[in-house]
Parts: sequence; structure tokens; C-alpha cells
Amino acid sequence: MKPLDASRRGTLDNPIVVRSLGKERYLGCTGYPADSHNTIWLTVSKDRPVERCPECGGVYKMEYAGAEEEHHGHDDHHGYVEPKSMADFVRPEYR
Ligand SMILES: [Zn+2]
Repeated sequence: MKPLDASRRGTLDNPIVVRSLGKERYLGCTGYPADSHNTIWLTVSKDRPVERCPECGGVYKMEYAGAEEEHHGHDDHHGYVEPKSMADFVRPEYR
């Protein structure tokens, strides 16, 4: 992971944009200036791209840079459950 833009604090109008090839990623906020508070881990996802650090109020927004999903119409009807975390990609016997 590259360091985040620490030159300013993100706001709701102008969040720090985090490009991601995945649908979900974690980012660590250390405040502004950098390292002004302990690392707070935030999760941003394609479905919920904006997250705000509870410590310093910095706002981050994930910009999805991966391939566009194919549109199958109503995905809910064929029973596929969207993985919620990387752990869901691990086969149960390997846990
Ligand atoms: Zn913060």
C-alpha cells in the first residue's frame, strides 16, 4: 500500500481519495499532521466508499479503480453471497 495523502485533512466536501482495485480496503488514519494520533483503521468499500475517522474527523473516499462489474440484472436471485471480508475467500478447511 502506498502512503495516503497526508498533506491535508479530508473533508466531506473534499475527501482524501483512495484508489482501490478491490471492492474493499482498509486504511489507517494517523491524523493531520501525520502521526498526530494513534492509527485508526477504517474500512471503505465500493458500496460504502466514504468513511470518517472518529479521532480527527478526516474523511476518506474510496475510488474504485477495478473492472466494472458485469450487470446480471437482479443478482440477488441466483443465491451468490457477496464476500464480506478476505476471510470469506479462505476455504473453511484452511482456517
Ligand atoms: Zn484520524
